[in-house]
Amino acid sequence: AGLFHSGCGRINERTFVAIKPDGVQRHLVGEIIRRFEQKGLQLVGMKLLQASEELLKEHYIAHRDRPFYPRVVKYMSSGPMVAMVWQGLDVVKTVRTMIGETNPADSRPGTIRGDFCLEVSKNVIHGSDSVESAQQEINLWFRPEELTCWQDTAEHWIYE
Ligand code: UDP
Repeated sequence: AGLFHSGCGRINERTFVAIKPDGVQRHLVGEIIRRFEQKGLQLVGMKLLQASEELLKEHYIAHRDRPFYPRVVKYMSSGPMVAMVWQGLDVVKTVRTMIGETNPADSRPGTIRGDFCLEVSKNVIHGSDSVESAQQEINLWFRPEELTCWQDTAEHWIYE
């Protein structure tokens, strides 16, 4: 899962993005998807779900010893979220740049967190922080058959 298949476009890097429960409740789903679409990135997987604490404990396993770990698991399981996989040139880094810093207070205007939230514990969106963690997160959140290969007809206008 998450690996390159022929017919999936010429750029094979993928990242995992989640619009968190606060992002859904604040009606930011369309706005956030719009930004990635307009950037030229390609959506290859998407679902709305209320994630279990078990899944979120696994997702945030790297933070298991941090004081905020129980709180972030509760927050992320508190309502529906939108899980997505996006593909494109340097997509992991590109998405992180568009999201902004972990703390919205440090995020510049024009970034998603800079524009739409105030607190680190309600920061509306997740994006994988490396190609390696993207691969792990895509495998954790999506079955291979939930990811769709499709030819983006705008590709020639996006890539040289
Ligand atoms: N978080 C928090 N308090 C903190 C640090 C992190 O509530 O002091 C939450 C926040 O939702 C953040 C998530 O835990 O997005 C994961 O933290 P990480 O450092 O991986 O930040 P990210 O990669 O999401 O920017």
